[in-house]
Amino acid sequence: MADQASFFPQAIYGSTTLDPEGVPRVLISPHCYIQGQGTLDHLGTYISVIPSKRPAVLLSVGGEERFGEQIKNSLNTPGIRHTVEIFRGECSENEVKRLVTLLKNKAPDTDAIIAVGGGKCMDAGKCVAFHLEVPIVTCPTIASTDAPCSAVSVVYSDEGVQVGPKFFPNSPALVVVDTRVIIEAPMRQLIAGMGDALATYYEARTCFQNLRARSIVGARPTITAMAISELCAKTLLENGMNAVDAMIRQEPNEAFERIVEANTLLSGIGFESGGLAAAHAVAAGLTEVPVLHRDFFHGELVGIGILTHLLLEEKTDEAREVAEFMAGVGLPIHAGQLSLDMEKDAPSIKKAMEGAVSSRLTEAEPFEVSPEKLFGAFVEADLLGVRTAQTLGDAGYRRLHP
Ligand SMILES: [Zn+2]
Repeated sequence: MADQASFFPQAIYGSTTLDPEGVPRVLISPHCYIQGQGTLDHLGTYISVIPSKRPAVLLSVGGEERFGEQIKNSLNTPGIRHTVEIFRGECSENEVKRLVTLLKNKAPDTDAIIAVGGGKCMDAGKCVAFHLEVPIVTCPTIASTDAPCSAVSVVYSDEGVQVGPKFFPNSPALVVVDTRVIIEAPMRQLIAGMGDALATYYEARTCFQNLRARSIVGARPTITAMAISELCAKTLLENGMNAVDAMIRQEPNEAFERIVEANTLLSGIGFESGGLAAAHAVAAGLTEVPVLHRDFFHGELVGIGILTHLLLEEKTDEAREVAEFMAGVGLPIHAGQLSLDMEKDAPSIKKAMEGAVSSRLTEAEPFEVSPEKLFGAFVEADLLGVRTAQTLGDAGYRRLHP
């Protein structure tokens, strides 16, 4: 949209000097994070910290059916007058423009956007808030994405093809996570979120240790982001299985609360301020394989990306630990579980590895990464996955892929 300048954090933090010593350490995080059972019932109270009195709520049609009444009731607070707009499903320039125009005409005094839903709804909400120059409140209804806490949106064409990331100067003012809502979301989404979150530590570590590497905003990671990323992996490895049990029983417990926080807050800050590397490069490359793009979640592709990343860095013991964890919670750990055949599909996997290298995320690695070298690590990851599935069985995977 032409009426608002674009924001490039890399030009601000990353351009200072080519000397690694001169690049600043930058931490980006949401202003306030609230998580608990039934938090959506108290939105009207929470937005007083912004403060907002004229919020516009953004919801999909399905979101309106599921949470519309609850949100209207929670905003039915003295002094607050809100509007509700339906998000049509794609975070595209046209959809953002439509919502901005609609709100400018219908509710010109809108003083905050509250986006309730999945990644695309929250990403669109961030774009709308940026154009209206008001704070954004995110209320994720699934815990499989880094969208709620970050100051970046992924923008798509109206046809759903990824156009690229869009950065914002302001992080969400408020993130409200209702774990009673999250536990009712499809289990496979939350587990995919674990795959995405688990990568955070291994990738942040690669960026942290390689002085030439940069975070996605073009800066160096802080030790804070590094500690958050490390806690993210520790939390997942220790609580993942218990959280899966809680989901099966549909009863939130402490492990479930911790996993939601790891997937949402720790992973969100870790990815934005810690940096990405080979695991996300592999995931990006694999989306070029149509069957993977169509049938698998981002976090599931990142999962096999972590195994590839660790074996590329010759961290065999860690790769084994991660493979065992992934097998337990039900993330795909070998090509077969991603509906690929290592022999028959070798050409498209090799092509995906070329795509991975051209994403430039592998530049965070401390050594040169060629598509051949990455393919070699992917082959090793597949073998490790096959061996792990033989030893531990594939009950976790089958539960999610009947
Ligand atoms: Zn990711």
